[in-house]
Amino acid sequence: MNRPNIVILGAGYGGIMTASKLQKKLSADDANITLVNKHSYHYQTTWLHENAAGTLHHDRTRMEVNSVIDTNKINFVQEAVTGIDPENKKVSLENGELSYDYLVIGLGFEAATFGIQGLLENAFTINDINSARLIRQHIEYNFAKYNNEKDKKQERLNLVVGGAGFTGIEFVGELANRVPELCKEYDVPRENVRIINVEAAPTALPGFDPELVEYAMNSLEARGVEFKIGAMIKEVTADKLVYEQDEEIEEVPTNTVVWAAGVRGNKLVEDAGFESNRGRTPVREDLRPNGYDDVFIVGDCALVMNEETERPYPPTAQIAIQEAEHTAENMKRIVQGNDHLEPFTPNIQGTVASLGNNDAMGVIFDDKKIYGWSATAMKKIIDNRYLLKLGGVGLVLKKGKLNFFK
Ligand code: FAD
Ligand code: NAD
Repeated sequence: MNRPNIVILGAGYGGIMTASKLQKKLSADDANITLVNKHSYHYQTTWLHENAAGTLHHDRTRMEVNSVIDTNKINFVQEAVTGIDPENKKVSLENGELSYDYLVIGLGFEAATFGIQGLLENAFTINDINSARLIRQHIEYNFAKYNNEKDKKQERLNLVVGGAGFTGIEFVGELANRVPELCKEYDVPRENVRIINVEAAPTALPGFDPELVEYAMNSLEARGVEFKIGAMIKEVTADKLVYEQDEEIEEVPTNTVVWAAGVRGNKLVEDAGFESNRGRTPVREDLRPNGYDDVFIVGDCALVMNEETERPYPPTAQIAIQEAEHTAENMKRIVQGNDHLEPFTPNIQGTVASLGNNDAMGVIFDDKKIYGWSATAMKKIIDNRYLLKLGGVGLVLKKGKLNFFK
């Protein structure tokens, strides 16, 4: 095959890192590489909860694709993918079509809504820059509106977050920082505002180290977050959330429900006919789906089994980046005529969650627990390390989090 067409879908962690590594590993004479993304920019999904709360401006989170990708080597197409046809090796776009010899799918996640009544219509989700900006503006609008109404509406000030997984916990941590600022700005007494985190499981962060869970909850409760644990969300309307706890149905009046209670792979992947397990496609050890040797799946669309626990690895940026680096190496082998592809083994270096600006907790290396300022600093080191890999020291200086203790 002369100069194969390699098409990469999505410029999130998985897609942009595949492109970034390929541009170093291959020359323009080796392959035609095309990166497709629906926005002109790449964003760091792992910072979106800060944009949604309003503690970090979204321009800090995003960067133009052509500022980190060499467009002399990679053809960047700003388009929304509308379909994937693996039988005919074609990708349809909103305004056209692409053919490929090899495809890398990195189209990320969607909220899993589990068919809960009213959720799609009435709840917000933290998916991308647009949805994060909408949440920030919606919360601000409700604060602004509160003092303009004769009959004060408590639902404007009840901020409800569905799910106390890592996204929910990190988001309420940011809200705990943001709410006092909003109260000051809009002349609203702090005691009138509620931040409520509703979790169906018997604990927040189910499956995570219990000591760290307790640390996180104590830290958040001390800053005014209320937890409803063992509380299953049943319905969301425009002005209330309904949940079941201890076999009782309860309601919270609210205009703001942010659903952070689970993700699934991008539906386009399932629609393409790839096998799908709760929206994620099981991949072989070289990250190719069964039956397709010309397709690689990276990031949240891929389901990689952990042989030790016999459960899938949770979808994280950490694993998406590693899959991308691995796929770029395997793609280089293919282009150079080497049929032997290396198997992928994740190297999980820990999990650190932020609890707001000045606090964090997590586990690193061999189950070492970290809390407080050391965890806060570690979280920033992880973020900066990614920027370093993607765009070198210049990108770290431009976009990094360089104040390690705040
Ligand atoms: P993404 O990074 O989401 O990228 C998908 C890309 O595809 C996007 O650029 C999108 O614009 C593009 N795209 C989507 N649909 C289309 C289409 N139809 N056409 C064209 N382009 C399209 N993980 C961690 O390891 N550590 C963390 O601290 C952490 N924090 C998180 C915080 C939040 C608030 C959230 C929501 C997730 C967090 N995660 C974290 C999980 C992590 O963000 C995801 O696992 C990771 O983003 C997956 O990478 P990806 O490349 O698969 O998808
Ligand atoms: P998740 O699936 O990890 O957590 C969702 C939570 O919502 C669960 O605790 C679940 O019990 C709860 N839930 C589900 N249905 C519910 C209902 N009807 N009512 C109430 N609660 C309900 O999802 P997530 O937190 O969005 O995380 C997605 C992925 O991103 C995970 O792999 C996570 O590890 C990763 N992530 C990592 C970090 C980090 O490393 N710091 C931060 C954010 C996200």
